Amino acid sequence: MTDKVEKGEAEWRRELGEERYHVCREKGTEPAFTGAYWDCHEAGVYRCAGCGSELFRSQTKFDSGTGWPSFWDVIEQGRVARHEDLSYGMRRIEVSCAHCGAHLGHLFPDGPAPTGQRYCINSLSLRLDKENTD
Ligand code: FE
Repeated sequence: MTDKVEKGEAEWRRELGEERYHVCREKGTEPAFTGAYWDCHEAGVYRCAGCGSELFRSQTKFDSGTGWPSFWDVIEQGRVARHEDLSYGMRRIEVSCAHCGAHLGHLFPDGPAPTGQRYCINSLSLRLDKENTD
């Protein structure tokens, strides 16, 4: 999956539906403790809701207490892109799918060992693939 996905906004809206479209394409944030995955402990690979790219493994998911699914690492370098985000008067690192550009969430430097990183991700940006438990 090296080629970037190029789709019009109308096509994304139709494919994703309103809720996912707002988060993935308009950088929205789902309310804490409401998503499908913040309290999910099932094994599998979390894929991008936009394009299916594999992003996170359940083995790196941890309970952050924030109400959003949180991971201390990505499945592979290069799958998740980082951008400085200065919105809302904060300086944060936004993370997105490197393949299709879907907004995923933010990265914070207060995660657990071994990386010390916390990828704070919207459930709506993800789909858990339970078949893949490698
Ligand atoms: Fe994607």
